[in-house]
Amino acid sequence: MYHALYAERRSDLTSVSNLPAALRERLARETTIALPEIVRRHLSADGAVRYVLALSPDASGNTPVTAKAAIIETVFMPSQNRQTICISTQAGCAVDCRFCLTATLGLIRNLTAGEILGQALVALEDNRAALKPQTNIVLMGQGEPLLNYDAVMTALRIILDPNAIALSPKHVTISTSGIVPGIARLAKEPIRPKLAISLNASSDEQRNQVMPINRKYPLEELLSVCKSYPLRPWEHLTFEYVLLGGFNDAPEDARRVVRLIANLTAKVNLIPWNPGELPYERPDPARVAAFGKIIADKGIPVFVRDSRGQDVMAACGQLALLESAPRPQPAPPPPLQRLPR
Ligand code: SF4
Repeated sequence: MYHALYAERRSDLTSVSNLPAALRERLARETTIALPEIVRRHLSADGAVRYVLALSPDASGNTPVTAKAAIIETVFMPSQNRQTICISTQAGCAVDCRFCLTATLGLIRNLTAGEILGQALVALEDNRAALKPQTNIVLMGQGEPLLNYDAVMTALRIILDPNAIALSPKHVTISTSGIVPGIARLAKEPIRPKLAISLNASSDEQRNQVMPINRKYPLEELLSVCKSYPLRPWEHLTFEYVLLGGFNDAPEDARRVVRLIANLTAKVNLIPWNPGELPYERPDPARVAAFGKIIADKGIPVFVRDSRGQDVMAACGQLALLESAPRPQPAPPPPLQRLPR
């Protein structure tokens, strides 16, 4: 059953002919296999698809954490030789990063392990005819994965199991806003994906403004747990840095970032801010290039990631169920101060 569900991606176990007939009949009578339901597909001009998915409440009613129906988003991004699927780990998010539209939803609920990996199954199934040989999964959709640790790890073990979805850890990335105890716990897992950390600022003072979680886990603590994180021979830590024009994109910021991560085996992904409903500016391309050059000149690999699916609100920081559910207008975030250099 496990192989049929996850390796062959079959959701009708009555058709699995190597199961005994009596068992198949019993499964048909007594069980239901339900994937998240596709409510809407938003198709981007660049080929990305933002899925709006409905999750049912747990039919058993036993687990308060899944008692609510919820709507979430998953993004499928095809490219020449592979597809990348960005999945959610919570409905909404409580972490409150100021540049992220998901934060305006607040936390609705944690997802179950089935709901987390079910998103990958839905996206793969919906694109079955056009799948490329390689699949990447990134846990970068709605939610902070390390605040739903047990369900996320259960889902990841199935995604990484050679007898199930069978992705290599090199092709699966968990992204955190910097939940230090969660990173320490992940470090001890025998089976784990790659780790990405949302840095987004070059000092505590600056990071406190855009990521309130920094008051709980400031940079010194965050970078200390990164220093002791056991990397595999092929692995780098990834630091993601959303560039907010005029706020954190100065050459001084780049030099501070270099100093922060100098002793780590790390690479940096620069993500120019994606316009959304929030009042921030997209950074000037020349400043993005200059920022990247300062980091690259110090020998740290750096990449500029222009997010896919911006026209359908599928890009980084844009997942907030737009056009899918009426919701109150978010309160405007406090203005960002340019910090003294
Ligand atoms: S960036 Fe991630 S952790 Fe921060 S509010 Fe958005 S979904 Fe939550």
